[in-house]
Amino acid sequence: MSSPQKLYEGKAKILYTTDEPSMLLAHFKDDATAFNAQKRGQIIGKGEINCAIATELFRLLEAEGITTHFIEQPAANQMLIRRTQILPLEVVVRNIAAGSLCQQTGLPMGTVLPRPLVEFYFKNDALGDPLLTRDRLLLLELATPEQLDELNQQALEINQILKVFFNQCSITLVDFKLEFGLTPSQELILADEISPDTCRLWNQTETDPQGRVMDKDRFRHDLGKVEDAYKQVLERIVALKQEPEKDN
Ligand code: UDP
Repeated sequence: MSSPQKLYEGKAKILYTTDEPSMLLAHFKDDATAFNAQKRGQIIGKGEINCAIATELFRLLEAEGITTHFIEQPAANQMLIRRTQILPLEVVVRNIAAGSLCQQTGLPMGTVLPRPLVEFYFKNDALGDPLLTRDRLLLLELATPEQLDELNQQALEINQILKVFFNQCSITLVDFKLEFGLTPSQELILADEISPDTCRLWNQTETDPQGRVMDKDRFRHDLGKVEDAYKQVLERIVALKQEPEKDN
C-alpha cells in the first residue's frame, strides 16, 4: 500500500491520492473563507457537517439519475470520489435574487425569478471569478458548445431535484454553485460539493431576513450561530431521509 499523497489543498477541502489511481480521498476542512478569501475563519465541526450534507445530496441526486463523483463516505469528514479533470467553471443556478445578482442588476433581494437562471463564472482567483458570457467562455475554450449545453441541462435538472427536496425540509433553495469534472472517457459529471458553503438556504419557518439564513451568508455577514444553522440543515435532511423508513 502506498501512502496517500496530498494532491491539492483548496479553501474547504484537501485532496489525497489513494491506492486506486481513478479515486481520490477528499478531506473536508473546518476552514471558512469568503469574498475571494479576503475574510477567513473557522466554523467548528463544518468539515463533518458539510461532508455529511454533501453525501446525502449526492446520494439523492444519484438516485434521481444524476452522475456524480461520489463513491462513499469512509469517515465523518472524508469522501471517496472519482478522479476527474475539474472544469475551471463555477455553474451558479438561481431561483431567487440574492448576492451578486442583486449587486449587478439592481433586482431587489428576494425577488422570485420567473424561471431558474443558470450562470457561468470563470474559476480564477486572480481575476476574482468573473461572470462569463457564452461567447467569452467559448473564446477561452473553457468548454465546447456541446459541453456548455449539457452543463446547462444538468444544472437545471439538479436544481429541480434539490429545490423539491429542500422544500420538503421547509428550506428554500435560493441559489447554489456547482462544479463539474471530466472523466477519462470525457463524461461530464457533478463534482466538488453541495453544502451550506455553496448554497443559499432560507428557513421557511423564520420570517426575519437575517434569522432565516441557514448558509455561509451567516459567516460572510457576521450573523452569528453559523454552526447551529449548518447543523439544522443536516438534521432536517437526515430527518426527511428517515421518514419513509418510519412509514414501513
Ligand atoms: N458561490 C460559491 N462559491 C463561490 C461563489 C459563489 O459557492 O466562489 C455560491 C454562493 O454561496 C451562492 C451562489 O454561489 O449560493 C451565488 O453566489 P453569488 O454570485 O451571489 O456570489 P456572492 O456575492 O455570494 O459571493
